Amino acid sequence: SKETANETTLTPAMRQYRAAKDAHPDALVFFRMGDFYELFYEDAVLASKELQLALTARDKAKSVPMCGVPYHAAETYLQRLLRKGYRVAICEQMEDPKLAKTLVHRGVTRVLTPGTALDPSLSAEQSNYLASICVTGSATHQHCGLALLDLSTGEFRATEFSGEHAWTMLLDEIGRVRPVELLYGKGLLGGVDLVGEESDESTMLNSIRTKTSVDEWVFTTNYAVPLVQHHFRVHSLDGMGLGGHELAATAAGALLHYMRETKQGGLEHVDGLRFYERSSCLELDAVSVRNLELVEPLFSGESVQTTLFYTLDACSTPMGKRLLRASLLRPASELAEIEARLEAVAEAATNLRHREELRRAMDGILDMERLLSRVALDSAGPREVMALAGTLKCLPDLAQATKQLQVTRWRDLAASLDPLQDIHEMIVGAIAEEPPASLSDGGAIRPGVDAELDELRELSRSGRQALAAIEERERQRTGITSLKVRFNNVFGYYIEVTKSNAKAVPADYERKQTLVNAERFTTPELKEYETKILTAQERSGEIERRIFAELRRQLLASAARVRETARRVAEIDLLSCFAHLAALRGWTRPAVEVSGVLEFVNARHPVVERRMEESGSGRFIPNSVHLDADSGPSVLLITGPNMGGKSTYLRQTALLVIMAQMGCFVPAEQMRLGLVDRIYTRIGASDNVARGRSTFMVEMTETAAILNTATARSLVLLDEMGRGTATYDGLSLAWATVEYLHNHVGARTLFATHYHELTLLSEKLDHLKNLRVTVKETAGGIVFLHTVESGPASKSYGIEVARLAGLPSGVISRAREVLKLHERAESQQVREAASAPQLQMTMFTPLSQTIVDRLSELDVDGLTPRDALNLLADLQKEI
Ligand code: ADP
Repeated sequence: SKETANETTLTPAMRQYRAAKDAHPDALVFFRMGDFYELFYEDAVLASKELQLALTARDKAKSVPMCGVPYHAAETYLQRLLRKGYRVAICEQMEDPKLAKTLVHRGVTRVLTPGTALDPSLSAEQSNYLASICVTGSATHQHCGLALLDLSTGEFRATEFSGEHAWTMLLDEIGRVRPVELLYGKGLLGGVDLVGEESDESTMLNSIRTKTSVDEWVFTTNYAVPLVQHHFRVHSLDGMGLGGHELAATAAGALLHYMRETKQGGLEHVDGLRFYERSSCLELDAVSVRNLELVEPLFSGESVQTTLFYTLDACSTPMGKRLLRASLLRPASELAEIEARLEAVAEAATNLRHREELRRAMDGILDMERLLSRVALDSAGPREVMALAGTLKCLPDLAQATKQLQVTRWRDLAASLDPLQDIHEMIVGAIAEEPPASLSDGGAIRPGVDAELDELRELSRSGRQALAAIEERERQRTGITSLKVRFNNVFGYYIEVTKSNAKAVPADYERKQTLVNAERFTTPELKEYETKILTAQERSGEIERRIFAELRRQLLASAARVRETARRVAEIDLLSCFAHLAALRGWTRPAVEVSGVLEFVNARHPVVERRMEESGSGRFIPNSVHLDADSGPSVLLITGPNMGGKSTYLRQTALLVIMAQMGCFVPAEQMRLGLVDRIYTRIGASDNVARGRSTFMVEMTETAAILNTATARSLVLLDEMGRGTATYDGLSLAWATVEYLHNHVGARTLFATHYHELTLLSEKLDHLKNLRVTVKETAGGIVFLHTVESGPASKSYGIEVARLAGLPSGVISRAREVLKLHERAESQQVREAASAPQLQMTMFTPLSQTIVDRLSELDVDGLTPRDALNLLADLQKEI
């Protein structure tokens, strides 16, 4: 190629660049040259576009495009590239250019990727997961391992899936976790057929911007598992729950390999790896997490205020916020755990004083996990270390406040909260009270820590005083009142005199530099002080660095304790957040049990209610639910007009179940909940529709998943099923789906539909109950009452709307007649269908189809009264 032809003519520096680029072909290489990081060739073209930088050329022939960023401003540019999903390799000067005899030695010191770089703008509740997947087995019986690492907090966990649905389950988990970067073995994504245009897999994986492939051998057990053992200094992984989970361990090992490859610094804060299983929580698939807007609004760009996370977030600390988010995605499924949390929330909810003490103690607590990570990755300056100390200072008060509470969960938390006072003392004992931002500014170490440091500081202080004295003396001696003693990095200390005063300068001054308006001089005395001061500063800089490094080492030796405490703080924070909400909003404690019951009295949708309150747009109308999969109604069929409140009712039910199983109180007068193992939702348009996939296909895929995997302990929500196809197709499918759920699955089900015909199912299915959302028709129009009551919606509703719209009264009354005939015929047929199930679909004979077709083609506005009557007569004949 053109470039290899150039190879021999490359300058030595460009040859270094080539080597760096060849070693990191998929990264943008930031090549340090003096005060700049330069990018060359394709990298330069791309970066100039992404970062709006001027593109220049390195050589005269202009064959090497180049652009650059100043090294001191590099951070913001790097973050912008990472956020766009790029990888960046930093190629540094490895020696001081002033000391290098020939070409400065350079080397790649770190590779930054979205999953490995710390983004300072990352919000507190967000996680920054790097995921690694490992897949083996045949098409029908796969084993998948998944490992997740959040370098910004040190959280490291892994899981495994196997069986026919392993791959789908893996993708589901990835959809919930939303990693920023995915690591996999080369060939994997080609091998498992993910690239098909229509597959869910490709959409799921496409949403992850950065996908990194490594050689397949990295994902072999023999290579990867020892990396994990080595990192945690253990001989067996059983202690982490990873015994027998080779694939999870392999995926984790591959992540550690990647950390090493990309030269991520100390990983001391990654001090544990946890095996986890989906089944140990209330399972929510990725579709439900999105549909229910648990943590993100349905459409990106919409306000976050529509999320349950936003509504529940009254946490005081970043750790608490992250735990809240994680708990929303993994509510508990064990009765004992849920009860322990509810009991703790109940106690704090009724005790204002203790609750406030807790919150006051947490007020000063910063993100200790992320501060610790910065220490581990050596990007923490003295101020960050001091901030960590400030946080540790709050812990004894928090422990004290926690001890006031009596129930088991609070007592356990109080007993296990390590207040870390030794670490606090260690930091404040070493760092100055108000340290500078950067260690190199000097003054980070507290006086009294190191005798030599104190002496040196005294020396440079007296040196500076001496300089001030020299300035004063020289002014008097020369009579130049504007004479100044100054310092800069290039010339050191000098005496500055304006041009106009240059004549008055004494003979013992040596000229150093001439400027437009001034002359600069030095004297032997000044030189002597300069040497003294600069040597003292240099030496004290060395000592400060040494002490700081030692402190860092000691801190990291205690990293595990700090992280453990951070976890306790998160739990305390979350429980007191729930208690706060309960007290503030008057929420009640749900009664949780093991049964098929799901009962609310006067429940409200927490998000909609809060938004209505905030915008002053009326009051939320409470509604009740009664379901009992064991003996009562298991399917609620909800009909009523659009905008009546059906889907709000469905969502509200799911949200309250999730809240209850998280251990949170609920917005209802009463709630009784038999534990739910999984929530399924098929609500409204999903993301896939926005991506151009057929609504109907998406809907059927989601429905199939529900029917195939829901259990009698699940909660199923179906909204407006069958809308995406021809009326009769849709109706038939909805009909059969309800029957199947009722007869075979037995899950607690809420089914909202616009197919009025389905309400007739109640005559046939014992455990199906009809509900309707109510409206009131007034002279001014239709008022939605938003109350849910027993019985099917009135079918004549559409006709009433038409009447309000001003259709001639003759047409209206005739339409009523037609409707009656229709209904009579229909219920007759349903009764027949009920007794002869195999014929149930005969109710959908084309009887009404022609009428419907003709009516829908009709241009009502252009109809004369006479035409209308003729039409009605015609239609009547069709019956
Ligand atoms: P549907 O699913 O029947 O078309 P939605 O559930 O989307 O209706 O509700 C329509 C509108 O009515 C929404 O804007 C919602 O905020 C409001 N709404 C729904 N339920 C209630 C309620 N119980 N109280 C007050 N407003 C409600």
